[in-house]
Amino acid sequence: MKRHINIAIDGPSGSGKSTLAKNLAKRFGLVYIDTGALYRTVGLYVRKQGVSSDDREGIIRCLEKIDIKMTLENGGNAVYLNGTKIGDEIRTPVASVYASDVSKIPEVRAFLLDIQRETARNNDCVMDGRDIGTVILPDADVKIFLHASDDDRAERRYGELTQKGQDVKLEDIKNDMTKRDANDRNRDIAPAVPASDAIVFDNSGFAEEQTLEKAAEIIRKTIQTV
Ligand code: C5P
Repeated sequence: MKRHINIAIDGPSGSGKSTLAKNLAKRFGLVYIDTGALYRTVGLYVRKQGVSSDDREGIIRCLEKIDIKMTLENGGNAVYLNGTKIGDEIRTPVASVYASDVSKIPEVRAFLLDIQRETARNNDCVMDGRDIGTVILPDADVKIFLHASDDDRAERRYGELTQKGQDVKLEDIKNDMTKRDANDRNRDIAPAVPASDAIVFDNSGFAEEQTLEKAAEIIRKTIQTV
């Protein structure tokens, strides 16, 4: 059976991973999988239950009551939590903090592992996250670790959130983001660091289109058949 094409895009928040992954999905006819949505969904459930984000045991107990399904819709993934489709409620700053906190717990990562691997096994896809190249898909055809300066990343995230109508301040976004990234980078399990065979790409100052073209070139050089 032909193996599906799997492209891993990892990197810190605001580095432009999801925009790049969506653009690559369109360019190469792949499915786009946003794995952050899975951690955000677990975080949402935990918060709704009134469980504190540092209550490890409480969070692990929550997993028994969570059923997460991913469906592929319009070239991307939708996430269902206990049968209900999740929307933009997982995109707020507080949801980001919860996602990062629950993602440090090995049981949470193990809980979300199969759903990610299975989706990649069954689809030509570009998957974005923090540990796709290191843990989830160590055999991915192409691994890109995308990053950008703190200022660029904060401004991009600020633009995204204000466009969605959220009332946020640039300075707060920058502070939250730096904290969350340090959390993600320094955790014991699946830290957000490049895989040894990843291509590290700093796209500071790049327009969306330039980032796409450079990544597309990397992909074409690596996978001659796309
Ligand atoms: O990518 P996004 O910002 O939506 O991810 C939210 C949080 O989920 C991240 O800060 C990180 O803590 C966690 N995450 C992760 N592993 C992934 C994707 C996201 O730990 N593959």
